[in-house]
Amino acid sequence: MAILEKEHLRANLDEVIWNIEEARISVSEHHIVKLVTVAKYTEMENIATLYELGQRAFGENQVQQLKERMEALEELPLEWHMIGSLQKNKINNLIDLRPTLMQSLDSLSLAEELNKKLAAKESHMNCLLQINAAKEESKSGFSSEEAYDMYQTIKESCPNIHLKGVMTIGAHTEDTKRIQQSFETTHALYEKLQKEGATYCSMGMSSDYQLAIKCGSNLIRVGSALFK
Ligand SMILES: *Cc1c(COP(=O)(O)O)cnc(C)c1O
Repeated sequence: MAILEKEHLRANLDEVIWNIEEARISVSEHHIVKLVTVAKYTEMENIATLYELGQRAFGENQVQQLKERMEALEELPLEWHMIGSLQKNKINNLIDLRPTLMQSLDSLSLAEELNKKLAAKESHMNCLLQINAAKEESKSGFSSEEAYDMYQTIKESCPNIHLKGVMTIGAHTEDTKRIQQSFETTHALYEKLQKEGATYCSMGMSSDYQLAIKCGSNLIRVGSALFK
């Protein structure tokens, strides 16, 4: 980890934005993509510099780090996303941080526990269902087959959770076809869920965000490409 010069970060950000433009225009000029900067690898100073360069949305995969950074940077009007697996003993901490979007709701039992604690605090949270589209053992999340029904179940039984769509991590492979398949599967699910109010299809990271956008992603989570 290093503190990067503003011009260095500007060049990285410009490159990512250019790549986003190219991919989204190939879908439609009306297709808008939101960029969430994944800050987990980087120094706090680089977040502040990216803010100066116009970036507003940041993501972390650990509640503790999210808390430290939200507190240290609270003067800045940033939005914060939780993108990592949430341990049940950290639920109350996360609720108190009031993240803009919790992208990694990955089991029914987590949803039930989160809902209970939200209700006790008379609070609510915007969440995405995490989809394990490539059925990888190493990843958590709902299978694409069960996800549609689970979305309804959680909507009905967890009123303090406001579901806003789906999130997936592309298949962990060099095989572009398989990565593409995992994105297409998730996007097809998202299309079905739009009539249930889903507005976010979060897919794409540094290595595959252009492919993800071409498959219909409207929210990408990019880390290492910005901090190289
Ligand atoms: C770390 C992480 C990212 C960003 O990864 P890069 O490959 O560095 O862009 C995106 N999503 C999740 C869930 C992550 O944990």
